[in-house]
Amino acid sequence: MKTIYQMSRPGRRGDSIPAHRIDDDYFKQSRLPLELCRSQAAELPEVAEIDVVRHFTNLSRLNFGVDVGPYPLGSCTMKYNPKFTEQAARLPGFAGLHPLLPQLRRGGLLAQGALRVLYECDRLLCEITGMAAFTMQPLAGAHGELTGIMLIAAYHQDKGNQRSIVLVPDSAHGTNPATAAIAGYEVVTVPSKDGVMDPAAFKEMLSEQVAGVMMTNPNTVGLFNPYIAEIAEAAHKADALLYYDGANLNAIMGYAKPADLGFDIVHLNLHKTFATPHGGGGPGAGPVGVVEKLVEYLPISRVAEHKDGTLFLDYDHPKSIGYVAPFYGNFGVVLKAYAYILALGGEGLKRVSEDAVLAANYLRVKLMEHWQVAFDQTCMHEVVFTAQDKVEQYGVSALDVAKALIDEGFHPPTIYFPLVVPEALMIEPTETESKENLDAFVAAMTKLAQACKDDPELLHQAPVTTPVGRLDEVSAARKPILTDPLEP
Ligand SMILES: *Cc1c(COP(=O)(O)O)cnc(C)c1O
Repeated sequence: MKTIYQMSRPGRRGDSIPAHRIDDDYFKQSRLPLELCRSQAAELPEVAEIDVVRHFTNLSRLNFGVDVGPYPLGSCTMKYNPKFTEQAARLPGFAGLHPLLPQLRRGGLLAQGALRVLYECDRLLCEITGMAAFTMQPLAGAHGELTGIMLIAAYHQDKGNQRSIVLVPDSAHGTNPATAAIAGYEVVTVPSKDGVMDPAAFKEMLSEQVAGVMMTNPNTVGLFNPYIAEIAEAAHKADALLYYDGANLNAIMGYAKPADLGFDIVHLNLHKTFATPHGGGGPGAGPVGVVEKLVEYLPISRVAEHKDGTLFLDYDHPKSIGYVAPFYGNFGVVLKAYAYILALGGEGLKRVSEDAVLAANYLRVKLMEHWQVAFDQTCMHEVVFTAQDKVEQYGVSALDVAKALIDEGFHPPTIYFPLVVPEALMIEPTETESKENLDAFVAAMTKLAQACKDDPELLHQAPVTTPVGRLDEVSAARKPILTDPLEP
């Protein structure tokens, strides 16, 4: 495919920018330093409107997104994000706000609506998780984790505890041990039993050195840890804090609150559960909530309410860990989550989790005949299969299956993760896929299981319907070419 620069022809125009109302003298008097101004016009592509429309439409068709078809990428909750939340985020009264407004005198008034969104969203997330207060600042899940671990460190420092270890189960998402290590802790791995963190092993590893434990429940093999109350009790007895990686919240909304399960800190991925599209590096948000005893350490600023009901930014928290992001986080993402939560309501969110869990179990049971399930029990929002037997019998790997699914019109599931399952295929259908789509997925997987026996070569060749076939994934990761030389 040509780049838009290669399509450029001198003099061709596709824009219709309205004539500006500021005269040229304004620009001449501009206070921009001259050395920062262009001396000649920018070399922009010169193309007609039809070329622009076709170029970007064709470009978008080279990629697979949730707007194209089902995207059962486990642990990522790639559900469909309704477009009304985008409309809310685009409202000019919100989209046009300057982040410095609340600190200006009259700005405090102009920003009341935005402050209200931050304040109310905090209350709603507290209701959903059982926590006492949230910060909206963290810009992603992993950033929320780092914020949470900094809160754990602040807690122990304040109490004069000397703690150097963070415990992480072997099925953890990779960001958990990475976060604890970045924050300066020694990471110690707790083994699983039957897919979930083993409470006996956990208790043995607890000591005066343990600052906290990072878990997600349900975990990344899609199983709910039934020993959580026992684990929480043991942790608290040792004055270790329990951190909840809430990226998997889609499974439990309205059914279980992390605070009730004994967790002290939670981060949520608004871009997974609460209606912000993700993948491709768009902005997300990883708000962090804490129980009462940790509220004083939360980042500043925090939105607070005057007696007369007006809102303001409160910086008066001497024990705060400080800022973790510029201004107040990715406000547009918080706004979308707020709109989504209000639109669905408590019953709607409960239904989300019901349907997400139901969809995963539907696939589990329907696929069990042809694919080996990693843990033969009721799952939560995702289900893990293993292609180990297919490797042994037919030489077909999880990677081959993933690539062949692309030719069937589905985004591949997560593969080779979690690490505790060999040749893992981790499938998260989400609540937004219809029964017809789930059945189509079952049909595709059944067809591939048959193909493993009849024609394994077909799976080795896949994908054949995409612009490029198998990439050299090592080179793509280690030596990516991210620019075009822009030569015609
Ligand atoms: C996605 C995910 C994360 C990381 O979130 P990012 O926003 O990508 O940083 C952490 N834990 C789990 C379980 C996840 O699924």
